[in-house]
Amino acid sequence: MVWLRGLVALPFGLAVGSFMTVAIHRLPAGESLARPRSRCPRCGTEIRNRDNVPVLSWVLLRGRCRSCGERISAVYPLLELATAGLVVAAVARYDRPWVGGMVAALVAMMPAIALIDLRHRIIPNRLTYPALAGFAAYLAVARLAGGGVDPVRGLMGAAAYGGGLLVVALVSGGMGMGDVKLAAAIGLVLGSLGLGVVGVAAGAAIVLGGLGAVVALAMGAGRKAKIPFGPSIAAGAVVAAFWGPQLASAYLRTVT
Ligand SMILES: [Zn+2]
Repeated sequence: MVWLRGLVALPFGLAVGSFMTVAIHRLPAGESLARPRSRCPRCGTEIRNRDNVPVLSWVLLRGRCRSCGERISAVYPLLELATAGLVVAAVARYDRPWVGGMVAALVAMMPAIALIDLRHRIIPNRLTYPALAGFAAYLAVARLAGGGVDPVRGLMGAAAYGGGLLVVALVSGGMGMGDVKLAAAIGLVLGSLGLGVVGVAAGAAIVLGGLGAVVALAMGAGRKAKIPFGPSIAAGAVVAAFWGPQLASAYLRTVT
């Protein structure tokens, strides 16, 4: 019942996406996620509940504030759609509920992290620390519940991916500690499914990072321009979350 699982996951995905539209502004600014309610940045009117329905409100209001008509960026509904789409796809992809829930939580964070890093060149600790602690606790509980995850491999994945990027960060300096913590969280989750999946995430991040650099150069960025690596790490995690197990086993078949 793949479609039924996806349907059940959709409202969760939209709610998480809506939360992320708040997080992309407030986390980099160090503001509270809980309070105050969202306001129009121009006229200061509080956004009412009926105007705060993910995607739908933006479409019905044609991307404008109800009070003053200020344009509301399409980034909001697009981030909500992307987050919800990833959550639905993850829950549909994995029929084991413990695995599906965990992978959904991981990929749900990736669009917001990529966006924050692109805009502010940081990956907030307020995302990576709760992710690391939350996924570690989740893995322990899922293991006890027979959820089909391997916490020890998860720790190995975190050490391998996070440690690998830590070395890169210390040697080259082009990478930040936010990237290292993000990689550790990704390694923790994907490693619990198999260490090859972490390898796919890292490999995809390198390939996508290279493509990103080429695109940035083509769009006129200077050779010395700092290109954030977070979006590639996030995109690599999404690739591995959905195709990692197959890619890892296909790779092992070709080399052995
Ligand atoms: Zn307004």
